Amino acid sequence: MIRNLQGKKVLMRVDFNVPLNSNNEITDDTRIIKALPTILHVLHEGGAVILLSHLGRPLKKLNSDGSINKEKFSLKHLRFRLSDLLEREVKFADDTVGPNAFDLANSLKSGEVLLLENTRFFKEESAGDIEFAAKLAKLADCYINDAFGTAHRAHASTTTVARFFEPEDRCFGYLIEKEIKYADRVLHSPERPFTAILGGAKVSDKIQLIDRLIEIANHILIGGGMSYTFIKAMGGKIGNSLVEDEQLDLALELLAKAKEMNVDLIIPEDTIAGDAFSENAESQIFDSYRIEDGWMGLDIGEKAIEKYRQLIMSSRTILWNGPLGVFEFPKFANGTMAVAKAVADATSKGAFSLIGGGDSVSAINKSGLSDRVSFISTGGGAMLEYLEGKPLPGIKAILDKS
Ligand code: AMP
Repeated sequence: MIRNLQGKKVLMRVDFNVPLNSNNEITDDTRIIKALPTILHVLHEGGAVILLSHLGRPLKKLNSDGSINKEKFSLKHLRFRLSDLLEREVKFADDTVGPNAFDLANSLKSGEVLLLENTRFFKEESAGDIEFAAKLAKLADCYINDAFGTAHRAHASTTTVARFFEPEDRCFGYLIEKEIKYADRVLHSPERPFTAILGGAKVSDKIQLIDRLIEIANHILIGGGMSYTFIKAMGGKIGNSLVEDEQLDLALELLAKAKEMNVDLIIPEDTIAGDAFSENAESQIFDSYRIEDGWMGLDIGEKAIEKYRQLIMSSRTILWNGPLGVFEFPKFANGTMAVAKAVADATSKGAFSLIGGGDSVSAINKSGLSDRVSFISTGGGAMLEYLEGKPLPGIKAILDKS
């Protein structure tokens, strides 16, 4: 954290990309809550905070006349909720880097908070534009990045802006610090046995993660749609299940690498299949290697659940990314919910559990067990890239000493 914040103006990139309903009311304020510790720290130390964030994708969802829907994507909808949470007035600059923002920032006093309008109203933001970043930097004395969810984007407000501040005047906020600390714990010093649970739709999205985890984990439990690419590659019959034919060779390579490294890469033994991709589909249980035509695997079966539970319960470190089935349909949510329960139970027994990735986060929230796991990441894509070992531009920009 930056030392001596008394009297300083801090430009703070947060992730306030919260869901709004059709009346522009916040339906889930988790992201605002997660940003509070860093904001409050700066205020308590005598600093003033200038908050900047994106909200949605306004330039991708333009009005029919090509203009930006400034009402729908405005951060002004967050102002009063934020004000309640911080127990103080929140000023708002509707022009982000325009004259209003400059005047308000100029007159900002210790303990005060200014919220800037959506950074993505400007195409310069996603382009990482240097002049736009310079204008943002002019508003403040220091820069804190606490937006882990966008740390994998080389945008002006997440990355370029950092170079305008001396290394001692820029840092991560507490949220990013925590995300990195826990991801590093899993990747670099896991207590063993270390079990990774990987689900989701496609192998192609998770290849790099599986490849890296084979070098780190003791067990890798596969679930979800990607199981069937592995099963087909091994000669199984998968009926109408999701498959990526162009990844079959790669699936075999991953299996071979796991064997060579003495890692258990486990494919679900049985499958609950549906006769359609629908929540009202008829369902039937199959041996995962003998799924009949007309049926598609939509969840893991009881035998797989039992085996996965045992391995999870005997683990000391657990990483979970991606649902084990189509958990959005209650009929096919069993495997995902059972795994959520096993992860929570293992955590109660002293294991460290990290839930990283968008859909496993919604699954754990849906299961009602979110307060029984060690850490739930706020960054879907960012966490995936960090776990894969890719450098995140937002992280690098803070750490660069040049
Ligand atoms: P991902 O974003 O790759 O983690 O994938 C998450 C999505 O995978 C969820 O929306 C699930 O419904 C979907 N999914 C999980 N299992 C299956 C399956 N067996 N068949 C099709 N889609 C699945």
